[in-house]
Amino acid sequence: MSPDTVSSAERSRIMRQVRSKNTTPEMYVRRALHAAGFRFRLHDRRLPGHPDLVLARFKTVVFVQGCLWHWHGCRRSRMPSSNANYWQRKIARNVERDAQNAATLSGMGWRVELVWECELASATASLIETLRTKNQAVAGGSSTSRNDSDVEGRC
Ligand SMILES: [Zn+2]
Repeated sequence: MSPDTVSSAERSRIMRQVRSKNTTPEMYVRRALHAAGFRFRLHDRRLPGHPDLVLARFKTVVFVQGCLWHWHGCRRSRMPSSNANYWQRKIARNVERDAQNAATLSGMGWRVELVWECELASATASLIETLRTKNQAVAGGSSTSRNDSDVEGRC
């Protein structure tokens, strides 16, 4: 095999991982929110950017973001040494698209929450806190069940 073949195979492998719909960080957030009693739709294609989680009742969308892929700027955001130009272009497009999607969603009245891979546990915990606070506001202290009405989507 030529070095080129190796690197493009490696590149596809990485891209499959990064682009996978059911990446481990996303599953973590889904499990945590679900365990906390929240229900959501997944990858809603009607919304810009197809948010990973959509909590319609809270008018909140959640994107679980890979630090490299969406360029968090943390220590995990290290450009691969091979095909640097390729990655730079890809990532720059993602960042631009993320910004556009977030702006459009905000304009539609959605609250946009980002959960970065490197802050997974703490960001998920504070997201749950935020939603609980909102939940109390929505429920207004009544004893109605919060689980029955929302339909959980599938990919
Ligand atoms: Zn990060």
